[in-house]
Amino acid sequence: MSDAVCPSCGVQVSVKGTPKIGMSVTCMACDTELDIVWLDPLELDWPIEDDDFDEDVDEE
Ligand SMILES: [Zn+2]
Repeated sequence: MSDAVCPSCGVQVSVKGTPKIGMSVTCMACDTELDIVWLDPLELDWPIEDDDFDEDVDEE
């Protein structure tokens, strides 16, 4: 389990399982839905809702 800081309220949010970029996490404290934007260190941000943003199919 990993921890990240909620950008909305600043509390530590625990991420269950293996964090992945783009994964949705809900902050238990302020109930904000967040996306994982970076893994090292683990960083959360508000979900991007932008039409210019192409959907990348994530293939490894
Ligand atoms: Zn929060």
